[in-house]
Amino acid sequence: MLDIHQIPVLNDNYVYLIRETESGVTAVVDPAVAAPVLAEAKRLGWTITHILNTHHHGDHVGGNLEIQAATGCHIVGPRADRDRIPGIQTEVGDGDHVNFGQAVATVFDVPGHTRGHIAYWFEQDNALFCGDTLFALGCGRLFEGTPAQMWHSLGKLKALPDETQVYCAHEYTQANAKFALSVDGSNVALIQRAAEIDAARARGKPTVPSTLGQEKQTNPFLRADNGVLARNIGLAGAAAVDVFAEVRARKDHF
Ligand code: ZN
Ligand code: FE
Repeated sequence: MLDIHQIPVLNDNYVYLIRETESGVTAVVDPAVAAPVLAEAKRLGWTITHILNTHHHGDHVGGNLEIQAATGCHIVGPRADRDRIPGIQTEVGDGDHVNFGQAVATVFDVPGHTRGHIAYWFEQDNALFCGDTLFALGCGRLFEGTPAQMWHSLGKLKALPDETQVYCAHEYTQANAKFALSVDGSNVALIQRAAEIDAARARGKPTVPSTLGQEKQTNPFLRADNGVLARNIGLAGAAAVDVFAEVRARKDHF
């Protein structure tokens, strides 16, 4: 079983400390920075044994070397981006399994935001660590990939069970909700969720994790195959990948 602890760092990043309770192995997912993560692990009495990176951006790997130096932990990251992951020791890619104490993560290649982006899915614990690929009500910008690649990547995540908890790497949800309403404003589930998000943020509460079921119902980037959304943006009958590309382009300029 996994014990998952969320650490807000920098402006809006979430770093996760995850501990497999049988064995005590403990990973940091995407350490943007080192000091707050080391301090939090110490406070919890957890010994960091692994780092799991999703992609090469500085706000995801910035703490790698310092945490590795402090703990001797083992760094796991995307094979396709091994040259850009500081300290990487185990390279993984699509379909690989990462043994983590009694738990196991399945790796998905999810290019789009970056070309080597991966996600870690702990099936037994219904936990998905998806970095900057899928956000609550959003998806990552396409810095190194095409809309077709990202739509395909999101399709892999969308295929997971509704009860999957989506542990994304940023608290972008409130801004994402405003955009989502601009393209899917008749979606009752979205309207309700946006109100819940506003209420949570007003109380200073995180909106992450969400469930994949919520995202399937309300995230416009997972709903490019929805006819109503397509019609809303003037693309009735268009291919889902073209609807996705248009939604992503609109978000870039929102
Ligand atoms: Zn990123
Ligand atoms: Fe990021």
